[in-house]
Amino acid sequence: ESDTFRYPIHIGSNLLQSNQVWDGLVKQLSPSSFFIITDTNVAKRYLDRLQSQLEQYAQTDYMVVEAGEASKSFVTYERLLTYALKQGFDRSTVIIALGGGVVGDLAGFTAATYLRGVPYIQIPTTLLAHDSSVGGKTGINHSEGKNMIGAFYQPAAVIYDVTTLKTLPEHEWRSGMAEVIKHGFIQNTKLLQSVKRTVSTPIGDINAESIENILYTSIDVKRQIVERDEKEKGERAFLNFGHTVGHAIEAELGYGEITHGEAVMIGMMVALKVSEHYYEVDLASNSWCEDMKSLGFSVRIPASCDSRSLIERMKRDKKSLQSDIRMVLLPSLGVPNLVKVDSTFIENILKEELEEV
Ligand code: NAD
Ligand code: ZN
Repeated sequence: ESDTFRYPIHIGSNLLQSNQVWDGLVKQLSPSSFFIITDTNVAKRYLDRLQSQLEQYAQTDYMVVEAGEASKSFVTYERLLTYALKQGFDRSTVIIALGGGVVGDLAGFTAATYLRGVPYIQIPTTLLAHDSSVGGKTGINHSEGKNMIGAFYQPAAVIYDVTTLKTLPEHEWRSGMAEVIKHGFIQNTKLLQSVKRTVSTPIGDINAESIENILYTSIDVKRQIVERDEKEKGERAFLNFGHTVGHAIEAELGYGEITHGEAVMIGMMVALKVSEHYYEVDLASNSWCEDMKSLGFSVRIPASCDSRSLIERMKRDKKSLQSDIRMVLLPSLGVPNLVKVDSTFIENILKEELEEV
């Protein structure tokens, strides 16, 4: 068995300042120092809190990168390495990723490669990062494509302080919730019911316990799938449900125009319809679309997208072989399957799913 998941995942309130959690980790890792990597939005809210906690144990330095996808770059990566070298961080320095998926991927890749690898701890502060912080994929972008440079490198621990989620903007909240819903569609249909109950509550009113439960279940789906297929040779591809169309929409609109999860939600609704046609089954796709709309998602492909060019992008998707379109479909809810689909077949469905102008 792999030791991929020997690391602890703590989920709870006020964990940034939890002596119990940190005492244990410090005992286990004996850090010579800490190096916190965070972004501008997160730093102004949570950096002080974490820094004063960590300073009790060891010298604590930090670097704040610009918030946003553009920081997953060679330039920022090199700047982090240069800082680390100048500070003289050694193999016992523990890197801390304090932020969303951008910081997690960037700091994780820095940890994977600095001095051939130092331990790192993921402290996700977005809902989406429940997905990115587990599974060990780290990396940065290249001008030829997103996430093209990276490493599989597992964290020493994941500390999810759900208190930090309260300041998340609503579209970022939806972005992460889409990945939760994805985990529901591919493996745990009960999760879909708890999401419906929880998400219809205004964000400020959601109690910590229900969000902790949702995160726990959603992380567990991802954990199980990744454990069975760490290096993405088979089953891990199921995690791409909704992503073939979702990635194409993100690229077509331009990154940043729509959040990742919001694009994936549209992709999932299209994948449900494709599944119904492909398997000649009824998955109640129309009623799922209505449910998702009532949770604040849009479910139609934006009118500015062109179906032909979406198809071209889907053919180039890195998860596809050559020019076939490979897509995760559901013969029934909770049961994913990776299939090769004819592009004309999909294009006809895409045309129906385009928003009317
Ligand atoms: P992000 O890290 O850019 O965070 C979204 C926005 O929220 C940013 O502006 C950030 O500054 C802000 N923010 C973060 N925490 C906040 C808080 N508590 N309060 C207020 N604002 C806060 O984006 P994301 O959606 O978390 O992650 C997207 C990235 O994750 C992409 O780069 C994607 O490629 C990557 N990803 C990686 C994996 C993986 O397996 N490694 C999986 C999915 C996504
Ligand atoms: Zn995703």
